[in-house]
Amino acid sequence: MQVKQPHAPSYYAATAKGAVSCPPLSGDVQADVCIIGGGYTGLSVALHLAERGRSVVLIEANKIGWGASGRNGGQLHSGQRRDQSTLEEWFGKDKAHLLYALGEEAKGTVKGLIARHAIDCDWQDGLIHAQHKERYVSPMMEEVELLEREYGVAGLSVLSREEIAVALGTNNFFGGWREQSAGHLHPLSYALGIARAAMKAGATLHEDTAALRVIEGKRPKVETASGTISAETVILACNGYLDGLHAETEARVMPIHNFILATEPLGERAKTLIPGREAACDSRFVVNYWRLSADSRLIFGGGETYGRSFPEDIKGFVRKHMLKLYPQLADVRIDYGWGGTLAVTMKRLPYLRRLSPGFYTSGGYSGQGVGTATFAGKILAEAICGEQERFDVFASLPNIPFPGGKLFRYPTLVLAMTWYALRDRL
Ligand SMILES: Cc1cc2nc3c(=O)[nH]c(=O)nc-3n(C[C@H](O)[C@H](O)[C@H](O)COP(=O)(O)OP(=O)(O)OC[C@H]3O[C@@H](n4cnc5c(N)ncnc54)[C@H](O)[C@@H]3O)c2cc1C
Repeated sequence: MQVKQPHAPSYYAATAKGAVSCPPLSGDVQADVCIIGGGYTGLSVALHLAERGRSVVLIEANKIGWGASGRNGGQLHSGQRRDQSTLEEWFGKDKAHLLYALGEEAKGTVKGLIARHAIDCDWQDGLIHAQHKERYVSPMMEEVELLEREYGVAGLSVLSREEIAVALGTNNFFGGWREQSAGHLHPLSYALGIARAAMKAGATLHEDTAALRVIEGKRPKVETASGTISAETVILACNGYLDGLHAETEARVMPIHNFILATEPLGERAKTLIPGREAACDSRFVVNYWRLSADSRLIFGGGETYGRSFPEDIKGFVRKHMLKLYPQLADVRIDYGWGGTLAVTMKRLPYLRRLSPGFYTSGGYSGQGVGTATFAGKILAEAICGEQERFDVFASLPNIPFPGGKLFRYPTLVLAMTWYALRDRL
């Protein structure tokens, strides 16, 4: 069982716009749909269902946006977590095209929500992918060519070694590519914006209300310490924070901790780092990702852990990754350091399933949840309203359990991750 907690002490919590305050659940209530988890997945289902006239009760164990949705890198990517050449190899061209189109729709859904609900979340166009190995440049060129030629993607530009050094203020990369339609945002302000829109549309949100148990059945029931919710449909939207609530989902969705720092505001110096103010990420298995905030801090994410606890000195833990790319920032003050928990699946494909009639689960966005979780919420809402088509595309994606069972899946994962992280350095 989770202990109720305030937002992590992050730059985002300190600067979020549009706070919401929702009372805990009190007593026994009925709803068409009960959603467990107040991140992008849960909030987006709540909004899209409420807009369709369904009665919705969402319960969040802590605060709205408390989980990964309020702590992440804020990067909105295109397509799926896997590149198109891999998806073509796994599923054939038709399905790969379908998945890319759904990824584009996910991106459009985020931008659409921001525009439609006037969510003030510092949206900024542009994302640069940076290659940290020379041998990665040629497959990258092939991927960009594939996207342009066969997927008709516009707004891509390849960056030479010299060009990326200027675009990212570091000589660490051998090349890269830029996409105009991807970008970045303030993740907590975005989550709070969806929450406000959902409440305006009629959804009921409860903070500080943890689901203790889901009783499955014809009309499932969710038990909490302060009341119950009986609903036609229950949705598990807890992602990396599921923590014992549903074994079948947890076997397929593995929590991973990832860490971010925010420097002091860098003023004019910020222009020497990312003059175009794009988001950036690199080709490392344990990816580095960074961007400038609206007030010109460097927000830098890097480093992962897989156990139960976070490093004691998060600022120092991430700073060493930042200094590898930006040694010129050694004199810069680090104002914030925080961690969050995301969830990955074996194939890094999202895990959406109808577990039984009236019981759905969604998570495992594998580091691409800003778009995918928001979109998952939309297609879960569609599925609950009887429009199964797009939900079925995701539900048909293979998702095998992590090896090792409950006892050994962590050690097995740590071994695998350590091996891949080691390859980053070879
Ligand atoms: C450090 C970090 C950086 C990231 N960077 C990016 C990025 O740049 N771009 C990107 O696309 N993705 C990124 N991600 C991933 C992305 O943030 C997630 O995929 C996404 O936020 C998942 O949303 P969610 O709603 O499914 O889960 P969450 O936002 O984690 O929400 C789950 C919620 O469920 C609640 N909960 C858990 N158990 C219970 C219970 N029993 N009862 C009630 N509530 C419960 C939790 O308190 C939590 O608030 C990052 C993640 C992390 C941690």
